[in-house]
Amino acid sequence: MNVLGIDLGATNTKLVILSDSDEIEVLEAFPTRGEDGADVVLGRLIDRVRVLISERGIGAVGMGTPGLFDPETGVVEIFTNLPGQWVGVPLLDRLRTGLGLPVTLINDARAFTLAEGTLGAGKGAAVMAGLTLGTGIGGGLLVGGELFHGSTGSAGEISHQTVDPDGPICGCGNQGCAEASASADALTSATGRDTVEDVYRGYVNGDEECVAAVERAAASLGRALANIVTVLGPDVIVIGGGPASHGGEVVLEPIRRATLRNVTLVPHEDIRIVRAELGSEAGAIGAAIAARSVLGGD
Ligand SMILES: [Zn+2]
Repeated sequence: MNVLGIDLGATNTKLVILSDSDEIEVLEAFPTRGEDGADVVLGRLIDRVRVLISERGIGAVGMGTPGLFDPETGVVEIFTNLPGQWVGVPLLDRLRTGLGLPVTLINDARAFTLAEGTLGAGKGAAVMAGLTLGTGIGGGLLVGGELFHGSTGSAGEISHQTVDPDGPICGCGNQGCAEASASADALTSATGRDTVEDVYRGYVNGDEECVAAVERAAASLGRALANIVTVLGPDVIVIGGGPASHGGEVVLEPIRRATLRNVTLVPHEDIRIVRAELGSEAGAIGAAIAARSVLGGD
């Protein structure tokens, strides 16, 4: 039976259908328009998905969310970057009632990790770490093909490890997280450039400020990833998100170099740090894969 994956993004909502033989069909994306408020956004989404359910034989739905929710109740706790009042919205109940099907929620970075570990660059890995670069930096861990959620349901926040105790305050409130010096904002504000692409262009051209900012970001992410390598021994680290998909090796090489510089105790010659393969639909694909776990039961 087909499952439907939804990626509720800050800008666009993406939909994919995944068949039971892993065929991926990318449907049209549409603007999320979070500023309309949760009721309107969810009403619009439910109307669209109900049509797909009746036309396409959908058995279950998964939604990737831009933040954290209570894993027991499916009530929103933190939605970063999505305008409108979302905290406290009973997201899981609203979707189940509105769609009349089994529904599961998954954090968007965990969905990316699940997708890349099941059908993308981390396929077949015993232990995989996923990292998505962007406005924030998401993370996820996959062990034996299964997402590792930890006792809190929110394990995998790789970029919120403290890597510089004297560093900037992070959006999460902690001081010195890797995200605080490696996010898109950190790169553009340190260099006065408009976009991350401009920063990397400056880096390639040897601009001093851009080189310093990129190396600082890579050093922070490298410390965080080196901790993951030392503690968990992944066979592959998959890096995605806008900058990694557009910049490729220009983005990956400094991160790889910084990571391996900080790993000395454990063997790391065989660890691969690679670019994601599934593109910007990875979150929706991962949400669809997660939906298989609730297919046929509720
Ligand atoms: Zn943080």
